[in-house]
Amino acid sequence: MKKIIIAMDGHSSCGKSTMAKTLAKKIGYTYIDTGAMYRAVTLYAMRRGFIGKNGIDEESLRKELPLIKISFGHENGEQYTILNGENVERQIRGMEVSGNVSPISAIGFVREAMVELQREMGKKGAVIMDGRDIGTTVFPNAELKIFVTATDEIRARRRYDELILKGDNPVYEDVLKNVRERDYIDSHRAVSPLRQADDAIVLDNSGMSYQEQDDWLMEQYLKAAKD
Ligand code: C5P
Repeated sequence: MKKIIIAMDGHSSCGKSTMAKTLAKKIGYTYIDTGAMYRAVTLYAMRRGFIGKNGIDEESLRKELPLIKISFGHENGEQYTILNGENVERQIRGMEVSGNVSPISAIGFVREAMVELQREMGKKGAVIMDGRDIGTTVFPNAELKIFVTATDEIRARRRYDELILKGDNPVYEDVLKNVRERDYIDSHRAVSPLRQADDAIVLDNSGMSYQEQDDWLMEQYLKAAKD
């Protein structure tokens, strides 16, 4: 088997990361959650007061960008996100960060810095990276590109259930609105917008069970990595 790069892109909350993590565990690949990286930058900007009612203080964020160090840690087989030495996994998944992350991710200099870091993290191969622009911008030569989608309602329901499991108290309509808003901003931004790469394989997993989508992904991997 060849060591390949698997790019998983798609709409918000379509289950990309669950599928990617499961496959990574099975085949011993490194999983990189690029959404977590944009979420960590957003949390940093929120804490520093760079996101206000009148918009984002881009100049301050630009100045402090070199101070933002993002990495991943592992505990009991689970991956978590580290922002400047602190485990921020829980904070970055909340609705407040979700509400601010798309405008932050639309900023050109933020994307440049994250894309550079993602290329560095993935350069050795044997990696599954999930995000919005992996197959189009980060690794346009990835051997396997998957574009995942599902209906808005199903995606919102999945994110809602995830938040409930984490002990949050979300309102379903807010989650649905957020999923739609993020998709809109992500697809319409000027710098590397969310779009399906021409050579990506599309998966609509609306009606699929976990087992079905995991089997489907394994099949794609086996085809792409065959010597
Ligand atoms: O994947 P997740 O939903 O956690 O991503 C959060 C947000 O980060 C997305 O809505 C998008 O705005 C941004 N993002 C991005 N490019 C990526 C990954 C995520 O712009 N490669």
